[in-house]
Amino acid sequence: MKNIIVLGCTGSIGVSTMDILQDFKDDFRVKALSAHSSAGKLLNLKKIYPEAKLVLTGPDSPPEGIDYAGTEGLLRMLEETEADMVVNGISGAAGLLPSLKSLETGKDLALANKETIVTAGDLIFSLAEKHNRRILPVDSEHSALFHLLDGRNPDDVSELILTASGGPFADMPYEEQKKVTPAQALKHPNWDMGAKITIDSATLANKGLEVIEAWKLFHLPLEKISVLVHRQSLVHSLIRTKDNALYGQFSAPDMKLPIQNALFYPELRPVKAAYTDLCGPPLTFEKPDMDRFPMLRLAYDAAGIGKAAPTVYNGSNEMAVAAFLKGRIGFTRIAEVTAEMLSREWSDPCTTLEGIVATDKLVRERAEQFIGEKY
Ligand code: NDP
Ligand code: MG
Repeated sequence: MKNIIVLGCTGSIGVSTMDILQDFKDDFRVKALSAHSSAGKLLNLKKIYPEAKLVLTGPDSPPEGIDYAGTEGLLRMLEETEADMVVNGISGAAGLLPSLKSLETGKDLALANKETIVTAGDLIFSLAEKHNRRILPVDSEHSALFHLLDGRNPDDVSELILTASGGPFADMPYEEQKKVTPAQALKHPNWDMGAKITIDSATLANKGLEVIEAWKLFHLPLEKISVLVHRQSLVHSLIRTKDNALYGQFSAPDMKLPIQNALFYPELRPVKAAYTDLCGPPLTFEKPDMDRFPMLRLAYDAAGIGKAAPTVYNGSNEMAVAAFLKGRIGFTRIAEVTAEMLSREWSDPCTTLEGIVATDKLVRERAEQFIGEKY
């Protein structure tokens, strides 16, 4: 039996993870669960998993039955709880410290929280090596690439191709995007996900974060990482080998597959996901339009600049998305805010945790100030 901790168990990734743990009751023991403010849902899970410690990171004084409170409580739980693997389904940069603590306390990390890799990729890989732990990507494209690359000589790989659905505005001219409302942007054509990542899918910032994520995870030069818009979301990524052959991973758009593969790695188990039918609508691939979707170009720029830039890209995007969801700024302002932040000076090289956390805090303050003054 594998001992498991699920962070962000009430979110989109978290709920899919809990479903899989129910499907494979005999394979896993749930040691601890965290949510941010969904106390009721968390306490309900205690009925199914009476052994599990419960963590609520949001409120200062959590209700009865909660074992740990706040981020500090979450980190303490990770120190005090033995487990084989942590699934990190927390959204945003709040996932960073729990990822680091999971590795430091000797647990494998099934990582959905892409912000951890974008802001602190180098740091977490050296931690994983130091503690002899695995990092298993849960993001569907990276899970696909991980499995396509598994056992392959890295020198034989000439390109990683991330696929993107294109989001709900794939055909919309830039000028029209200015009028997009949060309700429109929250409707994703293929995937059912949390609010932040759904907006990121509409601006292509999600693909931008994933380019940086792939660059950090698989150690290929940036120019060898490309993106193709593939509207059917059946091919989750491809690799090109130096003989110019392409290998792809095809499956129904269901996060249960990458989550389950991470939970059982290196074993494969049958997945209760939808059957992949290749005889449906034709599969299409197109180059993304970075003029209409500047967040993708800005991600390449941020990776190229390196140092603090990926952390700045991530933090300013998070602030801008939150402002958009509150109706404070328009849809196309998300890229404007991010471009402005990337153009500023950031003195810390973001090679240490302290530097990353300080830069993340600073970029949030500056982005908030910029949004308040400019719009
Ligand atoms: P959701 O918003 O659906 O869920 C987020 C989870 O994290 C909830 O359990 C939430 O608790 C908790 N949470 C929110 N804020 C904090 C915080 N400040 N500190 C600690 N916990 C917090 O997000 P998703 O499941 O969609 O995404 C989670 C991560 O996975 C993101 O990094 C995303 O990019 C990545 N990902 C998601 C995919 C998807 O299909 N959803 C696909 C690929 C990657 P509460 O419910 O109490 O608010
Ligand atoms: Mg993805």
